[in-house]
Amino acid sequence: MNSTSRIFLCLLLLVFVAAYPASAQSSFLNSSRNVRIGLLSQGLQTTWQIEPSTGFIEIFDQSKKQSVYSGKADKIVLSAMSGGKMKVAVDQRKSLYYFSNELVFSALGRTPINLKVKAGSRKNYSYRGSIAITPQKSGLRGINIVDIEDYLKSVVPCEIFNRAPDAAQQAQAIAARTYAVRNLHRHSNSDNFQLCDTVHCQAYTGIAREIKFATKAVKDTYGKILTFGKEPANTVYHSNCGGYLIDSRAAWNGSEVPYLIGHFDGIAVEKPFCFYGSQIKKNKLTCSLPKTRPSISIKRMPAKSKKACYKNFGHRVGMCQDGAIGMAAIGYNSRQILDFYYPGTRLATMRYADPSTAPVETQKPIVVASLPMPNPEQIELITPPNPTQLNALRHSNKTRQNSRSIRETLKQISTGKNGSKAHELRKIFWTPGQPEISRSIY
Ligand SMILES: [Zn+2]
Ligand SMILES: [Zn+2]
Repeated sequence: MNSTSRIFLCLLLLVFVAAYPASAQSSFLNSSRNVRIGLLSQGLQTTWQIEPSTGFIEIFDQSKKQSVYSGKADKIVLSAMSGGKMKVAVDQRKSLYYFSNELVFSALGRTPINLKVKAGSRKNYSYRGSIAITPQKSGLRGINIVDIEDYLKSVVPCEIFNRAPDAAQQAQAIAARTYAVRNLHRHSNSDNFQLCDTVHCQAYTGIAREIKFATKAVKDTYGKILTFGKEPANTVYHSNCGGYLIDSRAAWNGSEVPYLIGHFDGIAVEKPFCFYGSQIKKNKLTCSLPKTRPSISIKRMPAKSKKACYKNFGHRVGMCQDGAIGMAAIGYNSRQILDFYYPGTRLATMRYADPSTAPVETQKPIVVASLPMPNPEQIELITPPNPTQLNALRHSNKTRQNSRSIRETLKQISTGKNGSKAHELRKIFWTPGQPEISRSIY
């Protein structure tokens, strides 16, 4: 192709782009359920490749609020140029030159819609939602704009043991959703994203890490978060507390958080929940699981106590993940697990704005439940009898030493009914403290 016809093609493309209605895809980008996840683990790169699963792409210029390309594309290559600009090449033929502001790439067409991304020489990753590429002085930053519920489908398996029983996965899903909603401003505005994909926020690697058990847990807990007062609770979690959770003040100084207190991770006369959880994870359960209790009393430890009975992994504040696995295996449901690790918090349901309705900014937060302060000394957790106890695991775990039987056992626990009607919580329609979730979301 000679240069004249190339210029002609470019002009034709520009005319096409100008004629294309920019609003055609804005309803997708306006969804207030989307969060911007900075792909820090992919680094600042000089090149990014993007492949839409459908073979069609929409490229949207964020600052000009207009579509710059919409059509067939197998591979888009973005290259960092000098002066904080980037060059965009669609299928090597059509180059849309020199963008100095963020571009958003969305696959168009039928499901499954996702984008395969290759950052520099790193391996491929696939993400749901859209990918934004922002040119910066030292390279190109990738950001995944993704529905918060889809984001959690990858976070949950990244953060907790893949074969954890259902109730533990559900507790993890609620804790991770709450953490995300609460921490949407963890990164500064100049970062141009809300959460990162590393353990600084929550580990997230896109579609590759998704597994059906975790996806089910996210769906089963759709929109559910923990609140304290009128805010999302600070649902920090860690791998293993070593038998005793510690007060947030013992870990990080700071002020008192009524639901992040130090206490034994279990029932006084029994082994800690995380003892059972870590044995299940290692496939080495050597003793019987205890029975569930109708109630658990929490005996608060002194604020500065760092007492432990085993080696711990993590900061020991909030939910002990091995403990959650132990509690779930014993037969406690996700609400009971969260009650135990975040005592005094309430379950609420996010009312995500419908993308077709007015923007979230115009809506007022609706809180229909008031949250009483817990008794700081002794917190009684009322836990109704759970009909789904696994007698087999309790009575005959000696014969269940091999991995298959443990897997089967966990599967049985996972597929059992983990909730009971009596414990069903009132649904709370709640929009997070505005403008938290609406700000800088497209
Ligand atoms: Zn972060
Ligand atoms: Zn523990």
